[in-house]
Amino acid sequence: MDYQATLERIHNALKPVIGQGKVASYIPELANVPPEQFGMAVVELDGTVHSVGDAQVRFSIQSVSKLFALTLAFQREGDSLWARVGREPSGNPFNSLVQLERESGIPRNPFINAGALVITDILASRFTAAETATSSFLSRVSARPDVTYNARVAQSERQTSSRNAAMAHFMKSFGNLHNRVGDVLDAYCRTCAIEMSCVDLARAVGFLVNRGVNPWNNETVLDASSTKRLSALMLTCGTYDAAGDFAFRVGLPAKSGVGGGIVAILPGECGICVWSPALEETGNSYAGSLALEMFTTFTGKSIF
Ligand code: GLU
Repeated sequence: MDYQATLERIHNALKPVIGQGKVASYIPELANVPPEQFGMAVVELDGTVHSVGDAQVRFSIQSVSKLFALTLAFQREGDSLWARVGREPSGNPFNSLVQLERESGIPRNPFINAGALVITDILASRFTAAETATSSFLSRVSARPDVTYNARVAQSERQTSSRNAAMAHFMKSFGNLHNRVGDVLDAYCRTCAIEMSCVDLARAVGFLVNRGVNPWNNETVLDASSTKRLSALMLTCGTYDAAGDFAFRVGLPAKSGVGGGIVAILPGECGICVWSPALEETGNSYAGSLALEMFTTFTGKSIF
């Protein structure tokens, strides 16, 4: 399969629409990111890298970090994790509060903000600093030693995090948050502010592509069954409340973030990451979603 030619074909086809959509602005620092950027990378299991455009530019990974924080928490907690967070699509925006009341402070899944706050709380109980646990884990799985967060972005989000704070307090009132709300929010915002490139992220999902084994150092990250479970969650809940439409159009497990990044896996073959900061209404990158749709159309490869 000539992935390089496929990426170039996608990039050319998308040139007229790159920049269409809206850059996330509810985190003030993200509003300054120029929208006309696009990068895409494919990393095969033998380490071969294919890339186009701004694939080496580091961007704010935002909710893509939820996938790696979850992996770490699942690795440590196993199935007892599911007593504190569900695994159903929410059908609501990622920062919605409404279900939490009806469902007694148990978030629908680990990829909406409430769920990720619970995951951060679990990591905060197990590690000295939850954000460092996740960035170190990202370093290991991406084989890149210097994964870190952007302090300005973290602070910008923290200063405007009333909604996430409301969720965290609400869950605490139900006993589903064990650490101090302020500490969990600090760690959550720093984790969202981690910066990586498309190449880094396409490499970082190598363990999910490879049935749980990190292909870059042969370490077992998850067993095959847990890998299947996390991949299923990506498919059903990874792209906000557009996950059904995304599965329909793309047919790959994926996780997106409001920084405009989307990481996807083709099990047994490759990790894929696309980034373009302008978003469609659901919060997914506009050009990024189209790029992944084209990827499965042009290659004829998906999980189905
Ligand atoms: N830091 C963002 C928030 O909590 C993450 C949102 C996202 O990427 O979905 O609002």
